Amino acid sequence: MTALQLTNVCKSFGPVEVLKDINLTVEDGEFVVFVGPSGCGKSTLLRVISGLEDATAGEISIGGQTVTTTPPAKRGIAMVFQSYALYPHLSVRENMALALKQERQPKEEIAARVAEASRMLSLEDYLDRRPSELSGGQRQRVAIGRAVVREPKLFLFDEPLSNLDAALRMNTRLEIARLHRQLSASMIYVTHDQIEAMTLADKIVVLRDGRIEQVGTPMELYNNPANRFVAEFIGAPA
Ligand code: ADP
Ligand code: MG
Repeated sequence: MTALQLTNVCKSFGPVEVLKDINLTVEDGEFVVFVGPSGCGKSTLLRVISGLEDATAGEISIGGQTVTTTPPAKRGIAMVFQSYALYPHLSVRENMALALKQERQPKEEIAARVAEASRMLSLEDYLDRRPSELSGGQRQRVAIGRAVVREPKLFLFDEPLSNLDAALRMNTRLEIARLHRQLSASMIYVTHDQIEAMTLADKIVVLRDGRIEQVGTPMELYNNPANRFVAEFIGAPA
């Protein structure tokens, strides 16, 4: 089964072409990392996959279903942002439950999923707090928990660690790797950090100026970079 298939996906803002003919397959359970310099289109590609932006052309399918025009909430995906994007007036529990309430899930089901996710992310003691009463690392765990409760087939992470200090970054990175193993879900993870890419990825997608420059396992890119750009980005000998 394929988790995600992108076929000739393009995205323009007015006259500006930001994504140019993207073709990519993500297999079920795969951990795929998008890397590339700032402004190359990583966030835009995630937003097009999630449906927050419509593709200008091309086709998107998730879990074998065409979703090119499906609204974000119905795509079976959940996205985690760098900025956490928590609701400040809601408790941790309410932040995690909100999407499930909107889906009209039964109360017991919501409570069970929030309990399970908060156990996985060590948030049991913080459920009644507001985001402002949490550390940055805890806030990011709530944002991840809010994705986990939805039981998505595909997780999208947009530079989830870039607001955390070095020690927390390492910690949270290991936690995301553990979640990936536990949930056996597919994950797409955007970063500009080579170490995150090399340690997390089953497959790395190198983007440059809105195009895919190379796709491969970390070792393939390291040993056989397609060009100097990839080599420099991966930190491999050119
Ligand atoms: P990255 O995440 O790789 O840093 P982005 O996807 O955020 O890159 O941006 C890629 C390019 O698209 C940039 O040149 C950015 O200015 C442009 N862009 C992104 N969103 C919009 C938008 N809503 N309107 C116009 N241009 C945009
Ligand atoms: Mg970005």
